[in-house]
Formats: sequence, structure tokens, C-alpha cells
Amino acid sequence: MGKSVDVVIVGAGIAGLVAARDLVRTGHDVLVLEARDRVGGRLLNAELPGGAPIEVGGQWVGPTQHLAMALIRDLGLKTHPTHHAGRHIAELGDSRSEFTGRIPKLSPLALLDIAQAQLRLDRLGRRVTQTDPWRAQGAEALDAQTFETWVRRATHTADGRAFFKLVTEAVFSAGPEDMSALWASFYLGGGGGVDSMIGVVGGAQQDRVVGGTQAIALGLAEQLGDRIVLSSPVTEIDWDDSGVRVHAGGTVVRARRAVVAVPPPLVARIRFSPGLPGDRDQLVQRMPMGRAIKINVVYDEPFWRSEGWSGQAVSDRRPLGVVFDNTPPGGSPGVLVGFLEGRHADTGSRLTLADRRARVLDDLAGYFGPRARTPIDYIEKDWAEEEYSRGCYGAFATPGTLTRFGHTLRPAIGPLHWAGTETATRWAGYIDGAAESGHRVAQEIRSASADAESTSRSA
Ligand SMILES: Cc1cc2nc3c(=O)[nH]c(=O)nc-3n(C[C@H](O)[C@H](O)[C@H](O)COP(=O)(O)OP(=O)(O)OC[C@H]3O[C@@H](n4cnc5c(N)ncnc54)[C@H](O)[C@@H]3O)c2cc1C
Repeated sequence: MGKSVDVVIVGAGIAGLVAARDLVRTGHDVLVLEARDRVGGRLLNAELPGGAPIEVGGQWVGPTQHLAMALIRDLGLKTHPTHHAGRHIAELGDSRSEFTGRIPKLSPLALLDIAQAQLRLDRLGRRVTQTDPWRAQGAEALDAQTFETWVRRATHTADGRAFFKLVTEAVFSAGPEDMSALWASFYLGGGGGVDSMIGVVGGAQQDRVVGGTQAIALGLAEQLGDRIVLSSPVTEIDWDDSGVRVHAGGTVVRARRAVVAVPPPLVARIRFSPGLPGDRDQLVQRMPMGRAIKINVVYDEPFWRSEGWSGQAVSDRRPLGVVFDNTPPGGSPGVLVGFLEGRHADTGSRLTLADRRARVLDDLAGYFGPRARTPIDYIEKDWAEEEYSRGCYGAFATPGTLTRFGHTLRPAIGPLHWAGTETATRWAGYIDGAAESGHRVAQEIRSASADAESTSRSA
């Protein structure tokens, strides 16, 4: 079976769907091939008892994520604020602090240490240019060290180091020892700095989408209709200057151009013929996915609220290091969402479901008391076991990768165009970054098509 279109798009996550919609709007004939039997990629809704949707993948959006917000508005979806009222819990070092506002009660020395290192990091984030961080002043030195090394040099207290480890695990779902300090600066800079990335009010966790974030992908898919073909994993792309032949199961789609809108470790699983230039291939070999298990624990009511807690908790001593109130807007049932991130996802994944559940409930009881031990439902997803994601929240660059191969992250190679949140200049790893990459790649194709047309007219 064969088909011929202008542009074939690999992957129906937000990046691929946005690219497809933009291209259709400008008159391109588009086909989206999606490996899974659903759209949305790293965005996925599950059901709470009673049927309300709850996200097991990406969920929050923030006020400076303008492209994600624009998509939500365009699709007629609504947001609601993340529940924030009450005392938050922070366990760092030996102490437990309960606080309102932004800053946990830590020793003055630890607070000063964290503030100074954060100031340096935020400055670095602003200095590292978002389009080509590998060209930033000092890029080589930053890329030659792990983020852990940078943190060790920038902090002077155990609590300071613990804080940045916790932040790294929460933001990247990987350890500071895993990634390049240049990648960490670029990523944090692209999200507006540490406070913007970890914050609720004014930050990346400020709002949730009514109906769950997969509604964004479903809304886009509805507009694209039968231009999306599900259950079609692309295994091979033959390409030359005249176009592409994309193989998915028994189907071969011919097109002038292909948009590959999958994360780097999934690009590495597609066979390109001829093979990709060595620099591009090296790049995708050096951008592994982070790892997280996301767990929604459901209670008959949000009991922590009546006890004065917001439901937000962080800890450097519990595997369930980050927790939020994830109760639906109507207030029932009560939901706490927690994450096993990085090394905690490694160890958590080796337990049986029953043991993992027991450990998670232990941690929730440690934060919010014994009522946390009696949920009415437990919904978890281990993203490392998803064949077409291979982890989450996004990929990160190992030391040396950006300065050696970063220049191949975005530019098209002949008819092959690259999208996906990992190619974004802002909020890479987020829904917003995925949308940016979709818009960018559609613009790239529109310009290339216009150039080709004017060349053929003048010939
Ligand atoms: C647990 C979790 C929590 C997160 N939290 C947030 C959050 O709160 N806020 C936020 O903004 N972001 C969050 N994210 C990240 C966010 O979900 C992603 O950045 C975004 O959805 C990525 O979109 P994408 O289109 O770039 O990639 P993907 O969503 O990964 O889409 C790629 C698509 O390509 C398909 N595919 C892969 N290989 C092939 C192939 N060979 N052939 C055909 N199709 C293929 C996949 O099935 C997938 O549908 C989270 C992610 C997870 C998993």
C-alpha cells in the first residue's frame, strides 16, 4: 500500500500535531504517522473513580508558556489554578519545615548558600543563548563538567547541595551527575530561571487544563481528522534531495519532506537510508531520556486541606521527593500526585507493584499523617517502560554533547526536518517547547516550499 503527500510527519505528540495543523492551514497536504493507538505522546489522561480525567503524563502549564497557553485558548479549553493554599512541607537535611509563601524555613546559612548559587545559575541561564547555547561565552568549560560538579563548586553547605539535587530531579527527572552543566543552564534559562521552573504561582506548575492536558492533543487531532494514521510505527526513512519514502508496517508514504517529531532516543531507533551524517547520529546517541514514575493517589476527599496543608511537599530523604495536590477542580475525589524521579525511579521500578505502592503510601503518611495510608485508588505510570517514549520528562544532553554536536539539533538535513520539545529554544522538555518546535518546523517547510516554487518559476 502506498500514498503520496507533501509532508509526512512522524509522531502525533504536540510537536507533530502543531506542525501538521500549521501546514494544513497553509494548504499543505499532510499525513501524520503515529506509532501508538492514540495521539498525545507524553500527554495521557487516565480516569479517576467516577470518571473524571487525571493526567498520568504532562500536566501543568505556566504563565510564561505563551505558546502552550495560546494552544489551549485556540482550542477553546480552560485552565484552573493548581491548589496552593495552606502550609507546604520541605524536608531538607535533618529538618522539616512547614511554610507558606515561597521560601522554606531553613538555617540562615543554608538559605544564603542557596540564594547565592541560584543567583549565579540564573545569571548563567540568561547568558547562555537559547538558540545556540554551544556558542555562549564559557560554553566549553560548562559543557566539560556535569551539573553536579558545578553545584559542588557553587555551594558551601550540605543543604545547599541537597536543594539543587532535589531541584534537578524534580525538573529533569535525572540526577545532576547525569547531565552537562551547559545543558542545565540552557534548560533552566529557557524556563525563566529556577523559581519559574519550580514555582506554582507565576511558575511552571501554576495551572492545569480542565479535561486534562491530553485534551490539547485530542483537540488538535480532531481538526486533523483522517490525516492522522494511528498504530503506524515508522521503522525506516529513505531520503534524497527529491524527497522521502517513509515505511510504517506495510505502508510506504512518499512525500517531498518529512518532519521527525519524536524524542532523540526514538530518532535513534529509526533506520535512515542513507544513514544520517555522523554528527547528527552522535547527537541522538548522547541525549538519553530522564526517568520518572508518576503516581496519582486518590482519597475520598482532600483530607490534607482541612488539616491546613496545601498538599505540596518536597523531600531529599524520601523516594517520593515531590508531591502536589492534584484534586480535580470540583474538589472531589482528593488526589495527591507524587513522582519517583531519576535514581528513585530506578529503584522504585525494581519493586513489585504492591511493594512500590506500600513505599509510596509510607512517604505520603510521613508527609501528611496516617490518613494517607487509606486511598481509594492508586494510578501509576512508569514512562521508561513506554516503548515510544523511553522515559520522561524529556531528554537531556550529557557532558560534551552540545558543544560538539548541538549545531545539528535543529537544521534540516535535505528533506528531513526535526521537531519535538527537545529541539525548542525555550521550555525544552515542556508542552510549550513542543509547540514551539512544531511552529518552527512548519515555518521552515513553508519557506523551503516558497523557495522551491520561486526557483521552478524562474527556471
Ligand atoms: C510524567 C510526565 C510529566 C510531565 N509533566 C509536564 C508538565 O507538567 N508540564 C509540561 O509542560 N510538560 C510536562 N511533561 C513533558 C511533556 O509531556 C512533553 O514535553 C511533551 O508532551 C512532548 O511533546 P512532543 O510532541 O515533543 O513529544 P512526544 O509527546 O513524545 O510525542 C512523540 C510522538 O511520537 C510517537 N513516536 C515515537 N516513535 C515513533 C515512530 N517510530 N513512529 C511513529 N511515531 C512515533 C510517540 O508515540 C509520540 O506520540 C511531562 C511528561 C511526562 C511523561
